[in-house]
Amino acid sequence: MQHLLSTEQMGRSEAESLLDDADGFLEVLDRPIPKVPALRGRTVATLFFEPSTRTRMSFERAAKALSADTLSFSPSGSSVSKGESLKDTVLTVQAMGADLAVVRHKAVGAPWRVAEWAQMRVVNGGDGAHQHPTQALLDALTIRRSLGGLDGLRIGIIGDIRYSRVARSNCFLFPTLGADVTLIAPPTLLPVDTEGWPVRHSSDLDAEIGSLDVVYLLRVQTERGGASVFPSLSEYVRRYGLTQRRFGMLKDEAVVLHPGPMNRGVEVSDVVADDPRCLVLDQVANGVAVRMAVLFRLLGGTSG
Ligand code: ASP
Repeated sequence: MQHLLSTEQMGRSEAESLLDDADGFLEVLDRPIPKVPALRGRTVATLFFEPSTRTRMSFERAAKALSADTLSFSPSGSSVSKGESLKDTVLTVQAMGADLAVVRHKAVGAPWRVAEWAQMRVVNGGDGAHQHPTQALLDALTIRRSLGGLDGLRIGIIGDIRYSRVARSNCFLFPTLGADVTLIAPPTLLPVDTEGWPVRHSSDLDAEIGSLDVVYLLRVQTERGGASVFPSLSEYVRRYGLTQRRFGMLKDEAVVLHPGPMNRGVEVSDVVADDPRCLVLDQVANGVAVRMAVLFRLLGGTSG
């Protein structure tokens, strides 16, 4: 594996071996000194042209736990505000000695361009509404650790599918790992291009919820136009919010995931967000280990 840009072409054995490595790194993160020298002397740059809380910190934490050095870039306060191009920014970071760049950008395909321009390894940290592969891997790890595997599970991905890079990454990875995925959304929040996606569709959450093993909630992507395609927020909550009433309709062992940031009171009620079956903080913790596995695979070879 040279870069990690998408889950679309990722095979089952490649995904499972990354998840196995991540399981091992979770054990490292649990040690009194949660650090190994695996990537000493390597440098990981985070180039985030869109806001982030979890993804950027998680990659930095992962790089440091592998003893790599980190370089961090954000557009505000940088020469991007003076008009510097993405290409010049990338080549500048490379000239400072970065071996790998994690790229987040609002333009679909930006990480692929970076991979063409630079000699560095590239990880897609989220490109527009297109892909966010490490999010999908950490979600798969969270489901695997909580329910024992994805084979035969019924997973509902609910809400703003149309503008969600998380949905696009999970729509490919979850079926690759054996799950049966249903996209549950108002027709206006479904993408127009789902032909060929290995998933089913429904617009009726109440009809589906009792059969799901995993409820995967999405934030409405207001910054990409998500809120403009349904009548009102309260109408959205009424049809697609995980309210306490709907939470009560779930199977006893079903779990709830959300990539964050959560909009409490919209896609998830406050009480459900704080329930132990809502695994958002497990997702965050597992994300560090998944990113360690990805960085190690790209910069350090396989763990054998
Ligand atoms: N944090 C995720 C992303 O960057 C999900 C979200 O923002 O809703 O795509």
